[in-house]
Amino acid sequence: MSREVAEAMKDQKKSGSLSKEAGSVVALSRRSVQKSQPYIAPSRDYSGNEIYLDANENPYAAPISLEMMMNRYPDSQPERVIERYAQFLGVDRAEVLVTLGGDSAIELLIKAFCEPKEDKLLYLPPTFGMYQVTCDLYDVETVMVPLREDFSLDLETLLAKLDGIKMLFLCSPNNPTGNVIPTKEIEAILEATRNKTIVVLDEAYIEFSDQASFATRVKEYPHLALVRTLSKAFALAGIRMGFVVADRGLIDILRRVIAPYPLPVPAIAAAEATLTAEGIATMKESRAKILKSREALKEALAAISIVERIYPSAANFLLVKVQDSQSLFDYLSKEGIFVRYQSSPALANMLRISVGLPEENDALIAAMNRYAESLTI
Ligand SMILES: *Cc1c(COP(=O)(O)O)cnc(C)c1O
Repeated sequence: MSREVAEAMKDQKKSGSLSKEAGSVVALSRRSVQKSQPYIAPSRDYSGNEIYLDANENPYAAPISLEMMMNRYPDSQPERVIERYAQFLGVDRAEVLVTLGGDSAIELLIKAFCEPKEDKLLYLPPTFGMYQVTCDLYDVETVMVPLREDFSLDLETLLAKLDGIKMLFLCSPNNPTGNVIPTKEIEAILEATRNKTIVVLDEAYIEFSDQASFATRVKEYPHLALVRTLSKAFALAGIRMGFVVADRGLIDILRRVIAPYPLPVPAIAAAEATLTAEGIATMKESRAKILKSREALKEALAAISIVERIYPSAANFLLVKVQDSQSLFDYLSKEGIFVRYQSSPALANMLRISVGLPEENDALIAAMNRYAESLTI
């Protein structure tokens, strides 16, 4: 990723809206699109000169050989993928919907349940940016209940704000803070929202955590929808595959909204190959390596003078508070090491660092030490 792209990503929030001349296609687009900010995905250089610790990917890629028929349409909902994923989760097949990445699962839920300009969606910042971005595009008003300073949930305030909320988003483990919402608190929210609010629980990082998934409990809570993905622990960010796991009544509603052929044949083939017993064993091995590396990285970071705080993490990344995140981010970018800059005021001077390969983590630590030394001279 070039320096310019890194800058562009940081400036994304600051940049203005689209300019619109009368009669232009911009003027013809929906107002919510005109007001929206484009998501600028970094272009990357995979020549081996740069280190990417900015997107919470799993660096342990497993080789996959694929056999495919590409002249035909794929299954609209790939049977074997659903069967294997349902078995992995311990749920019924009717409780799983396959989507084009977790991002499209989020979009699908908002599209299916939230009436534009009418319904309200509640979420708990600081959290995953796509919740707000998708609501903006679909003209759904958002209500925020900020997490406390230690990023724990303010349950009392949340419960007091549920009136008139159509959909509620929870993220556990939360991106970018790394902490989980305790099971008891999620249960309390699910009881308080019965028959009133759809609760979306984003479990993108659940495989890294000790906390049990709610997947096997969707029959208990017909208003609960889980968002899952193969992008993180399963090391398949490139194939764009995600899932909604919910009681079958909720899944049936989403089936009316999803595109007829949402998944390309190569993605289906890669997912089938990865969701075998062997593929799941590989995922578990890489998870063990990542968790071990995360603890080593935490220790090494704690020993660097400019590091002020490392937040507890149940995921494959660490949220780290430093003296001056802007200047450290610039320094690391120049060295070809990319971490995730945090622009929200609640995360002032924090960076999110994905756990990489041991040698990548070592390179990061070495660069941070050089940076810290340069300050003391
Ligand atoms: C990565 C991520 C997702 C889904 O990502 P996809 O690559 O679109 O599957 C969903 N929620 C959170 C919080 C994430 O970090």
